[in-house]
Amino acid sequence: MNIQMVDLRGQYLRIKDEIDAAVAQVLDSSHFIRGPVVSRFEVALAEYTKAEYAIGVANGTDALQIAYMALGIGPGDEIITPSFTFIATAEAAALLGAVPVFADIDPDTFCLDPASVEACITPRTRAIVPVHLFGQSADMDPITALASQHNLAVIEDNAQAIGGTYKDMPTGSMGTMATCSFFPSKNLGAYGDGGAILTSDPELETQSRMITNHGGRHKYRNEVIGLNSRLDALQAAILEVKLRHLESFTERRRTAAAYYHSLFEDVDEIVCPHEAPWGRHVYHQYVIRVKKREELVNSLSQAGIPHGIYYPVPLHRQPVFGGESNQKVLPETERACDEVLALPMHTELTPAQQELIAEKVIDHTTHLIYA
Ligand SMILES: *Cc1c(COP(=O)(O)O)cnc(C)c1O
Repeated sequence: MNIQMVDLRGQYLRIKDEIDAAVAQVLDSSHFIRGPVVSRFEVALAEYTKAEYAIGVANGTDALQIAYMALGIGPGDEIITPSFTFIATAEAAALLGAVPVFADIDPDTFCLDPASVEACITPRTRAIVPVHLFGQSADMDPITALASQHNLAVIEDNAQAIGGTYKDMPTGSMGTMATCSFFPSKNLGAYGDGGAILTSDPELETQSRMITNHGGRHKYRNEVIGLNSRLDALQAAILEVKLRHLESFTERRRTAAAYYHSLFEDVDEIVCPHEAPWGRHVYHQYVIRVKKREELVNSLSQAGIPHGIYYPVPLHRQPVFGGESNQKVLPETERACDEVLALPMHTELTPAQQELIAEKVIDHTTHLIYA
């Protein structure tokens, strides 16, 4: 049985005719940068996420940087982010001279713990950046309450949770701004790099759009310092097709997650992902917790079962942010880094594959020998 962590080819074959036609249309039009296909995708994405505006950019990391730039975040400013996330969330701020201040996570959801966020607020704080990790929304109400109390922006890093909800609101629609990544393995994945910024503020939309295109609204008139960060038309055409399938893809992920839950239900040593009552988890990753992870990982590697560790080292322990000498202590973040294990999760996963994965995980976790 050929089990993969993510099966992009299998998903492509499912929608091949539509994708091939969309790509052929772009090639035929030879309109490769910006243009009507990109605009159409931006409108569809805004509609789907219930943000007023969507702006296509080159990737999710640029989306974060441009959002920070549009908000005027710069040298000496602090942003509060989780340490338990992908480096881009903090890196994009640090690149602008801002200081990422790392808050701890809620152990159930792996997302920002609002109490820890509050303890990180200083007079230099400019923004809170919750990450909707693994496909589940952070607890946004207390975060937005803190933000309005202290006059801070909220930027949702929605790279992993497009299609997710919080109290019936789509992830990406609640912050001052939000960012998406269309990296191929993300829930809405392009066939190359891509990203987007979401906002409902017209001034932030104008500012962001200028920054993506050399800081100008009109050719050869540059108003602010910008970048070249555009979503290309081929990727937009592919994403337009895939966005139409996103709801059914999400349901496939949720069905697979429910099946994993049922397979692991009676095993005390395995902690399954917790679905918070406030919204829809879209399972970018299916992440369990186990105590003896190293042994389990070795056994799974030997058994040919793919797995991943997101994330093995928290950002505040990365060499670039002080490494081992960083005095910050984030107990839940550090425990999560030691315990998490991601199992294969994608739209093409079959029940038979899941049964084999679960059998191996359970065998090696409980040290039972099955025939
Ligand atoms: C993937 C990801 C990003 C970066 O997106 P790219 O498109 O790879 O630049 C940022 N934040 C999080 C949480 C991510 O998972």
